[in-house]
Amino acid sequence: MSGIYIHIPFCKQACHYCDFHFSTSMGKKEAMIQALILELEMRKTDFSNEEVHTIYFGGGTPSVLEPSKIEQILAAVQHHYKVVEAPEITLEANPDDLSEHKIKELASTSINRLSIGIQSFFEEDLKLMNRAHNAIEAKECIALASAYFDNISIDLIYGVPGMTNERWTANIEKALSFKIPHISSYALTVEPKTALKAFIDKGIIAPVDDELAEAHYYILVDKLTAAGYINYEFSNFGKEGYFSQNNTAYWQGKKYLGIGPSAHSYDGKQRGWNINNNAKYIKSITQNILPMETEVLSKTDRYNEYIMTGLRTIWGVSLDRIKADFGQEFHAYLLKQVEQKIKEELLVIKDNHLLVAPKGKFLSDGIAADLFIVNLS
Ligand code: SF4
Repeated sequence: MSGIYIHIPFCKQACHYCDFHFSTSMGKKEAMIQALILELEMRKTDFSNEEVHTIYFGGGTPSVLEPSKIEQILAAVQHHYKVVEAPEITLEANPDDLSEHKIKELASTSINRLSIGIQSFFEEDLKLMNRAHNAIEAKECIALASAYFDNISIDLIYGVPGMTNERWTANIEKALSFKIPHISSYALTVEPKTALKAFIDKGIIAPVDDELAEAHYYILVDKLTAAGYINYEFSNFGKEGYFSQNNTAYWQGKKYLGIGPSAHSYDGKQRGWNINNNAKYIKSITQNILPMETEVLSKTDRYNEYIMTGLRTIWGVSLDRIKADFGQEFHAYLLKQVEQKIKEELLVIKDNHLLVAPKGKFLSDGIAADLFIVNLS
């Protein structure tokens, strides 16, 4: 099970909290598409033995592309890679791009999953975040998209300054009213060098409150699990049969190829990341040079990553896999490390898998970090 991630580094406007790689200038859009297609060709040997099960257009805002351009990129994937018969093909989209005409066109391509960046159904939250869409567009686009796509996910953000528990609950209830099969939800985080950080530092926006985020998270888990969604990863909730195959493969340590500026790749041993500059990326690819840096992961790095991603998912950390992949020493170390956390009811072992207990749910990243090995191998 392998996937291809394609980064579309353009956005109509910069959301205040965002630290992803994108440009608001669309001047290089066509040159970028040609460069993405070239990179797909350049890297086909990396994946010559792999079957591609998932294709994911992320960004940035992939929905700024015309559907015919998406088709061109998909044709290059089909041409150069062994794509399985019914791959999951996801497109991240923003509500302001999703007119009925555009949705119809997208539905006529081989895209079969839409991930829509709703974030909130309330004007005040959208304004604070500087989203390009308004509350009406947020609601309308889901209703329209549901007429053409069955597999839809939306993103919601919680812990936004000024967002009360009531407003957050209303957001979740609105989302549930559309009966979409998948919801991803993230806490608003303040990243360095973002407008949000500058506004908070200047006192223009109230600081993000961790306790509020925690309260919102538990409201989210309660409401969505009561509505039949499975919280299969810390931030992801899906109905049976609608988990993101792309993200699941990533959390399970499968290989993926990242195409485009700032995209990351992983081949099971080594991680790579492309340059995060559109002009330099295009220039380098056009000269047939892959603008990528790589890092070979040590056994300890791979172990720590498995602990971190495993504890965020319902599949947990397989103790058999720890023994098989990392050896007896790592296995014994982990069992020793978890003793206290099991006593504190933060972790449990079930069917030889280590899982976060309900009490530890919001703390899973911190719990994982406590289990990391710093200097064993
Ligand atoms: S649309 Fe997405 S990628 Fe673009 S600025 Fe907003 S959060 Fe970042």
